Order: sequence, then structure tokens, then C-alpha cells
Amino acid sequence: MCGEPLRGCVTSGPEPLRDIIARHGLQASKALGQNFILDRQLLARIAAIPGDMDGETVLEVGPGPGGLTRALLERGAKVVAVERDRRFAPALAELAAEFPGKLRLVEGDALRVDEQELVGGHGRVVANLPYNVGTALLLRWLTTQWPPWWRSLTLMFQKEVAERIVARAGSDAYGRLSIIAQWRSQPRIAMQLSRSAFVPPPKVASAVVQIEPGQTPDGVKPAMIERLTEAAFGQRRKMLRSSLKSVPGALEALDKLGIDPQRRAETLEVADFVALAHLLS
Ligand code: SAM
Repeated sequence: MCGEPLRGCVTSGPEPLRDIIARHGLQASKALGQNFILDRQLLARIAAIPGDMDGETVLEVGPGPGGLTRALLERGAKVVAVERDRRFAPALAELAAEFPGKLRLVEGDALRVDEQELVGGHGRVVANLPYNVGTALLLRWLTTQWPPWWRSLTLMFQKEVAERIVARAGSDAYGRLSIIAQWRSQPRIAMQLSRSAFVPPPKVASAVVQIEPGQTPDGVKPAMIERLTEAAFGQRRKMLRSSLKSVPGALEALDKLGIDPQRRAETLEVADFVALAHLLS
């Protein structure tokens, strides 16, 4: 960073994130899933995934030292950033001062905030999520309120989790998460990232999933989809007539829908699970 403006030195963009981290003495905490992305070009590409966000409000979970936050602000978004680790507050306050009125910092646990109160009814979510709470946050955003308070979710997951979210029937990755995600949305993998894109590098590769809300069939209760998929995939190698025995009415529903009870869960399409849940809801 140029510290001598009176001598006319020339700055070339924002201070490198590595320097911000060093200047504030920020060591990554494994317990809080801290793996930072420091490459500003890569961050700009991630921030571009949702498309035009000028003037829109974005919820960012876990801004950390603020790399993705800055990329979102530079695209014209207003950002509400929820961070659990208060050590990042001084670095984020500097960023807020650079973008007056555009960045609101909320110290707390993203699993406990009232998102709608923070970003209104049409917010977007963009986040390099902490791996230990990523799936819980996604399930919360997909199963609680519908139509949702969000317009899109742009979320970094471990690659294996991203593959489960977008998996099709018949594949090994297909399971509960695929059905719950695809029931209410159209998820796609928008970007793959190697371990080396992060500091420190995590154990596995990552991927960004882009999710837009889709149609929801009427009358299906999230709890029923969750119950059916839990029973069916809890014993995924078993036939449905055995794995769904614990769900009252499920075997009759299979019969009504003409689904062979000798099939296994992974051969049923998302639409089959939705039809089953509809009959049982
Ligand atoms: N956004 C930064 C980046 O892309 O370099 C940091 C991403 S790092 C993978 C995850 C961030 O989420 C960390 O800053 C961590 O402190 C924060 N975090 C972890 N658990 C959280 C929670 N429950 N609520 C809010 N933030 C959390």
C-alpha cells in the first residue's frame, strides 16, 4: 500500500489481501473453517456468477478478511456480511469506510440470524462458506420459507458436496441433498476450484454452486420430503419396500403411483419423491 500520498506515489488497486491479513495478525482458524481466497481476479470471477447485482442487497456469510466482500462491493452490490470471528472486524471496518453506506457488518452466527430482516425479501446470497456449516445453511435456506427470501444462492462447497447437490438419479452422488435441493431449485456447478486456490489449502477441492429458486408443487411439506429421503437413503442398497417400511402409508403410496417397491431409492427421480411426498403430506 502507498503510505506517502504527498510524495505522489502511484497505487495500483487495493492492498493485497496477504498484507491485510499480516497487518491485522490474522491466523486462520481451522475450527471456524477458515480457508481464504487471496487472488482478486478469482474473487471477481466468483462475484460475477450471479450476474448483474448493481444496487441489490447481498448476504455474505463469513467475509473473513473481506476479499469476496470487496469484489461484491465493486460490482455495485450492497453487502450485509455476517461473521462469527470478531478478529476480522477492524479489517472489515476499513473496507466499510471505503464504501460508505454499502457494507453492513453483523457479528454473529449465520445459523441464528434473521436473514429476511437483514436483506429484505429479494436478497441474494454469495458466500465462500465455512465447510462445517455449509450444508446446514443450505438446508435451512431451502426448507424453511417458500417462496424464499433469496433470489439466488452462490455458494462454495467441498466438491463432493457440490456434486451431491446437482447429482442425477442413478449416480452414486445422488441422495437426500440432491432431492431436497432439486425439489425447490435448479442447482448447477458454476466453477471448480483446486485446493491451491485457498490459503491455507483445504484437504479437498471445492466448487461453487449456483442455485435459482424454481417451482414448488403445492401441498408438499418439507418435513415429509426430509422423512422420505432419510428413510430411503438411510438404507440406500435396500429395496424401497424395506427401506420405506418405517414411513406410514409409504408402501401404499408407491402402489398408487405404480412405482415398483423392489426398486432402490437411487433409481427414483426427484419427481417421484415429490409425488410420494405429495400423497403423504
Ligand atoms: N470469505 C472469505 C474468503 O473467501 O476468503 C473467508 C471464507 S472462510 C472459508 C469462512 C468464513 O466463515 C470465516 O471467516 C469464518 O470465520 C466464518 N464463519 C465460520 N462459521 C461461521 C458462522 N457460523 N457464521 C458466520 N460466519 C462463520
